[in-house]
Amino acid sequence: MNEKFRSRIITSGDVSPDKKESIRRRHTDGPMYFESLDPSIAEAVDAHGLEILPEEIALIRFAEDVTNEAMRKAGVKPFEIPLNHYHVLPAEVYEKHFSGNATTYRYKWSESIFMNADSVNRKVLFGSITLHELMHVKSHRTLHVIATDTGLEINHRRDGVSVISNKAEEGEFFRGLHEAIVATQEKISFPDMLSIPEMKDDKNFWESSEAATYRQEMSEYTGVPADDFLWVQPVGDTGIEWRQFSYHHHREVLKFICEKIQETYSEYADWVGVYEEFRNAHFNGDLLKIARLVEDRFGKGSFRILGEMTNDDESAIQCLEKMKVLSGINVR
Ligand SMILES: [Zn+2]
Repeated sequence: MNEKFRSRIITSGDVSPDKKESIRRRHTDGPMYFESLDPSIAEAVDAHGLEILPEEIALIRFAEDVTNEAMRKAGVKPFEIPLNHYHVLPAEVYEKHFSGNATTYRYKWSESIFMNADSVNRKVLFGSITLHELMHVKSHRTLHVIATDTGLEINHRRDGVSVISNKAEEGEFFRGLHEAIVATQEKISFPDMLSIPEMKDDKNFWESSEAATYRQEMSEYTGVPADDFLWVQPVGDTGIEWRQFSYHHHREVLKFICEKIQETYSEYADWVGVYEEFRNAHFNGDLLKIARLVEDRFGKGSFRILGEMTNDDESAIQCLEKMKVLSGINVR
């Protein structure tokens, strides 16, 4: 099968075909396009970067395999990020430069993953966050190359399924769907991740009745569904620490849509089969098929409603209500 590159280049003004091809290659062919880091970030990495442990390298390999397999299914040429583009920084250093648990970082042509050491201090968290960020790193890109008086200006127009308007005030569409696709893969791949040899202890604990009891108790306490915990473990004498798969509300929207579509189209054995159509779009950038599936099931204009979902929880909750109304289910 002829695999496509993950990047597409559109141009304005005088951009030669050779230049266009060289940009596409630098942005597509893997290590070639990974260059240096921003000097202040490079300094932080040099001074404070923590060693990536052997079992973490195994989890990186797992995430690379999952994403490359998904890219192949989407008809896209896979690539790998060099190991030295994965960075774990102590929390106080990480928080000076980035926010949250982890960041997919772009600088010029370089692309790397930065993780907050406090957020990945368990193998299971490291593995899940790595897979999440790698889904972002390898997503489809459309780059708009504009010839200006001072040289070439390069803007992202598409990132996975996200559409970035060239009018700043319009912002980005489909960002919420983008995160839903990424986070759903995190959850789907979890049992396979636990099955790699380096995760044997975690798997044993996860499958124990002790862990099941913790999940049940914490589910009652927090309202998080018991099967949505990524990790629950007692800490010290009284505390229990827990973590949920990311973007719960966004995943609910995507799962609901996939289930409704699956009811209509017999070619899909289950909702995951429909999910894979969305994941294909994340990697190959082709929105037509998912737009048609959504609009055929939920009506004209429904794909645009899905596009308005941002990465904010409240936006996902509202989007689910709207999609339920459109699907014919009564909501209170
Ligand atoms: Zn994300």
